[in-house]
Amino acid sequence: MRYISTRGQAPARDFAGVLLAGLAEDGGLYVPESWPVLSPADWRALRGLPYPRLAARILQRFVSDSIPFDVLTGICTDAYRDFGHPAVVPLVQLDTGLFVQELFHGPTLAFKDMAMQVLGRLFAHVLQAEDKRVTIVGATSGDTGSAALEACAGRDRIDIVILHPHERTSLVQRRQMTTVNAPNVANIAIQGTFDDCQDLVKAMFADAPFRQEMRLSAVNSINWARIAAQIPYYVAAALALGAPDRETAFAVPTGNFGNVLAAWAARRMGLPIARLIVGSNRNDILTRFLDSNDMSVSTVLPSLAPSMDIQVSSNFERALFELLDRDPVATSASMRGFRETGRMSVPDAVWRRARTVFHGFRLDDEGIEAEIRRVHAATGYLADPHTAVGIAAARARAPQQAVTTVAMGTAHPAKFPEAMERATGLHPALPPRLADLFTREERFTVLPNDLTAVQGAVRALAARNWH
Ligand SMILES: *Cc1c(COP(=O)(O)O)cnc(C)c1O
Repeated sequence: MRYISTRGQAPARDFAGVLLAGLAEDGGLYVPESWPVLSPADWRALRGLPYPRLAARILQRFVSDSIPFDVLTGICTDAYRDFGHPAVVPLVQLDTGLFVQELFHGPTLAFKDMAMQVLGRLFAHVLQAEDKRVTIVGATSGDTGSAALEACAGRDRIDIVILHPHERTSLVQRRQMTTVNAPNVANIAIQGTFDDCQDLVKAMFADAPFRQEMRLSAVNSINWARIAAQIPYYVAAALALGAPDRETAFAVPTGNFGNVLAAWAARRMGLPIARLIVGSNRNDILTRFLDSNDMSVSTVLPSLAPSMDIQVSSNFERALFELLDRDPVATSASMRGFRETGRMSVPDAVWRRARTVFHGFRLDDEGIEAEIRRVHAATGYLADPHTAVGIAAARARAPQQAVTTVAMGTAHPAKFPEAMERATGLHPALPPRLADLFTREERFTVLPNDLTAVQGAVRALAARNWH
């Protein structure tokens, strides 16, 4: 399978190529040249498989001959081995026709592990096969950094440097990053904001000699392999609930649009998905777009569901490309206009087509707290603030549950103890494998918001490990 850029000006690549490249050179995002489509018989043949084997079978359609199937199966088996639930992605029923799919049983207790655990192993395999090495750099305000560190720690041929804003992340989030102890890992606390961290990462990528010298790479949510690795759990849920003979709807707590885009991809592959409900918190740019064809950026406001505190959803470009009938010229023009003016609307027919699949839903902090309390009172289930947005979205947009709806459970409630305690009076415990999080030794370096200092730290890590 080949991949093309949404902006049409970058070379087509195979799966291994897009894995290592991340963003395309023309600023676009890689998408499959054509979508694999499965027949009802193909879907039926996947019923009842253990999750890692199902994941390998779905991923195989996108990896094609970049990686042998037995290697891919080994990667998926290994990636999900240490998850805290034997089903990996269990479904929990909350009501007639209403389920939560828990995607948070991985090492960092958030759904980012679902893709990242596979991605780290894919990187290691491809780098070995091509005799290369990379330095992954990233900025994080929370979940992505720790998931990337857990996925890459101790892997040959990879060094990983994660920047976080000093004293501006939650204690659980910081400790999940700074207690990952491996010789190829560096945590840097920047004396600045999350935006400063992101600017430093961008500046490192923009410094071409440095980029080449350090062979910089990224594992952020625009990497196609992350989307691909998120498709299988939609398949698992739909098959368990009767696909291909019955339709399912999904409600997805959304930030960068990566998770819901994976659901769209599953639908494009022929999985019978009735609708996709895009849940947002008070940062509701996507809901405003779906309600009124107005995608206009405003300032990011902090909320109880911080992993959705995003105004520009980078993966939306992939959906836009499809909605515009895969026209790279129109996609480039829209994205350029959006960057220049901070707003975008699409032709009316295109917007209407988007609304046949995607429905918007918004919940402010008060609503999130009320929903956590309501779900707990009604069922005893503890939904974290992100998952609560998903559940509320599923109830609001599928009131009669005519179609079985699955809310995606994207984080473990123990990651957000204060919000849970305020809503329910309960303090959810960390799972046993993380129980010692607060006594583990932390390792991080505090640096000023200064490019030269950060580049020095990246070089020092590489110097220690490259020989
Ligand atoms: C990243 C994240 C999201 C948002 O997912 P996107 O793919 O960026 O839309 C939602 N919930 C949690 C807990 C997350 O970590």
